[in-house]
Amino acid sequence: MSDLKNLSTAELELRKEELEKQYNMYKMENIQLDMSRGKPGPEQLDLSHGLLRALSEEDVKATHNGDIRNYGQLDGIPEAKALFGELLGVQASNVFVGGNSSLSLMHDAVARAVLFGTGEGQTPWGKLPKVKFLCPSPGYDRHFAICELFNIDMIVVNMTAEGPDMDQVEALVANDETIKGIWCVPKYSNPSGVTYSNETVQRLAALKTKAEDFRIFWDNAYAFHHLTDTPDELADIFAACAQAGYPDRVYMFASTSKVTFPGAGISAFVSSEANLAYAKKQLSVQTIGYDKINQLRHVRFFEQIGGVGELMKQHAQLIKPKFDQVNRTLTEELGGKGIAEWSEPQGGYFISLDTLDGCAKRVVSLAREAGVILTGAGATFPYGKDPRDRNIRIAPTFPSVEELKKAMEVVSVCVELASVEKLLAA
Ligand code: PMP
Repeated sequence: MSDLKNLSTAELELRKEELEKQYNMYKMENIQLDMSRGKPGPEQLDLSHGLLRALSEEDVKATHNGDIRNYGQLDGIPEAKALFGELLGVQASNVFVGGNSSLSLMHDAVARAVLFGTGEGQTPWGKLPKVKFLCPSPGYDRHFAICELFNIDMIVVNMTAEGPDMDQVEALVANDETIKGIWCVPKYSNPSGVTYSNETVQRLAALKTKAEDFRIFWDNAYAFHHLTDTPDELADIFAACAQAGYPDRVYMFASTSKVTFPGAGISAFVSSEANLAYAKKQLSVQTIGYDKINQLRHVRFFEQIGGVGELMKQHAQLIKPKFDQVNRTLTEELGGKGIAEWSEPQGGYFISLDTLDGCAKRVVSLAREAGVILTGAGATFPYGKDPRDRNIRIAPTFPSVEELKKAMEVVSVCVELASVEKLLAA
């Protein structure tokens, strides 16, 4: 099929009728499919059942740090710190191991900055009349929700194939002292799949910011979630920051949510020695320590199965066919029609679909009526407002390949129908 934008009004009317017929047929099939969140599928969760058997009674009583059933070791057991150190390419001494959710570590890092400031002598952000964050978009809706909760204004920065538009970022932070942070998902970004280029990492590290206490929230949620044998490489942000003279600029986060169990994994907060020491003062009031048994369980499980890399390969075997299926159906149904573009990521959990401007909301609502629940249109932008109303996040990991095929056929018809409606209205 040729570019829809070249069709005459009569041809578009005809196509609309065909699409409506097809759409109504799908509606009668009573499809029920929820693709709104990036959750691992059940067969992925099964890969980590060994976790439930990874520890013996002796293991928990006699680590070289003593009995881990008891209180203590606020920043995690050394084995878990070493594990994250190795996985993230950072020093174990810079790792703080948390509970099952890195999102909660991010929330707490923002909360501490708002309540107490980023370090000794720094003004708490909550005492300032205005605080703003840069939000490369499309991005992760839960980052934006944290900003909303703490009344932090969000500024949209465009995402490019190399990461955030750094010209925009540099211009913004240079003259505005109220800009205190930036959200980054630097590897296999949610939802665009982009891995930041070396240049982007260098420029972020070397940013000349008006705010002295500017922080990069480096959410490395998909650091080792490769879909191919040729993983993207991400430059070392800590080394780059240290070299640029800003050793305290980065808060890094990661977790095993999409390695083992999202409901029962372990997470990490990584930062400079000074930042960690300051955070630990407050964290020690919040808790006497996180779940060390789960930490050791993860360490032992990974040893038993030959490492995280091996497990991630098995995940890729399960989910790569799902990403391929989405790409195949979109290509078959929408290829060459000039009405949609989508990412083909090398890793991570999402495919980002861009429709014609002004169509995303309509597509999501049409799909919902036909039984396919997608992430809400606009969710990938601050305040839920996509200025061009065109981005849709597709989360292919949970449904089966067969379900995905059907769901993407439905979505494709919705995209084309919404586009035809838009072109006819123009
Ligand atoms: N960051 C990103 C970018 C994510 O996509 C997700 C999960 N969707 C999370 C964080 C959540 O991580 P956790 O389960 O460790 O809280």
